[in-house]
Amino acid sequence: MSTLIPNYSLLRHNTFGFDVRARFARVLESEADALAVLTDPQLASMPRLVLGGGSNVVLRGDFDGCALLIGIKGRRWVGEDANAWYVEIGAGENWHDSVAALLDEGRPGLENLALIPGTVGAAPIQNIGAYGLEMAERFAYVRALDLVRGEIVELDAAACAFGYRDSMFKRAGPGRFIILSVTFRLPKAWRAVAGYADVAQALSRNNISVPAPRDIFDAVVAIRRAKLPDPAVCGNAGSFFKNPLITAEAYAALKQREPELVGYPQSDGGVKLAAGWLIDRCGWKGHIEGAVAVHERQALVLVNRGGAVGTEVLALAEKIRHSVATRFGVRLEIEPVIV
Ligand code: NAP
Repeated sequence: MSTLIPNYSLLRHNTFGFDVRARFARVLESEADALAVLTDPQLASMPRLVLGGGSNVVLRGDFDGCALLIGIKGRRWVGEDANAWYVEIGAGENWHDSVAALLDEGRPGLENLALIPGTVGAAPIQNIGAYGLEMAERFAYVRALDLVRGEIVELDAAACAFGYRDSMFKRAGPGRFIILSVTFRLPKAWRAVAGYADVAQALSRNNISVPAPRDIFDAVVAIRRAKLPDPAVCGNAGSFFKNPLITAEAYAALKQREPELVGYPQSDGGVKLAAGWLIDRCGWKGHIEGAVAVHERQALVLVNRGGAVGTEVLALAEKIRHSVATRFGVRLEIEPVIV
């Protein structure tokens, strides 16, 4: 069983780069390590925080409990059917490295999600999505330790109840499940997802009319590198707000007042607004407030300029939410989990 490490710095375990500590930490490198959490008397009465890459979390301060650091590695092909290959990947594997490795093996399907920071185990929690693809579209099942029921469970997409940047895991809270591995379903009949303007433009700039998986991967990597801050250089947790979904009637009314407003119709009849656009229109892009700022190229991303604490980020987020609500009548929802 892995050991309990006291007074553990979480600086390298959250992409915002907040310099906070956990009373204890334990690294989980196997399912057996995870199961041992259930029977360890020291852990029984302590709050627990499961951390993968810490890429979608705001730590408000020191954590008075045990941080469980997910280090479960490995990737193996577990089967195929007429339509798809199935690959199981350990929750502690790096997301982007896994996407790249699958592509190298000639099994594409996740390339629109290239360069998303974090681990494989974190991907189902918020159903990561980018450039027209959601993880849920390539998902088969997850193995997870249910800390309340005290057993390992296998959950399919229905049980995970994926939504827009959302899942049952997020709603259950950060202490309920430890995701151990994720099995993906990669379609044998690969089709490019190239509808987003940035991707389409990148392909057309390179004179690519029939993109191969590698072309999509390269385009997404180039776009993200150009537009989004690298957490290794500038602390951030990716998009800080979800794109709001509003009714078609509310959209029509808003569009009359704000003719330049862009909306994306959804299958349920609602309309998705671009949160970044709303924030930009309220004048926040590039705004600096002490140690925190709104990224100068992407208004959806809040950054730690150095030495910031979680409460400063949340205070700035609140001001942004207030001004967007005042101007557009839309309440933005925060995307990362707040601890
Ligand atoms: P963008 O291209 O500037 O577009 C702004 C928003 O409009 C996006 O959030 C996107 O929604 C929506 N959108 C654009 N084209 C669309 C289309 N053809 N159909 C439907 N919706 C469309 O977006 P961006 O901010 O640079 O981000 C690019 C992609 O990376 C987006 O998919 C975004 O979600 C993703 N991303 C995610 C994170 C994260 O932390 N979760 C961080 C950065 C970027 P969607 O967000 O629903 O795609």
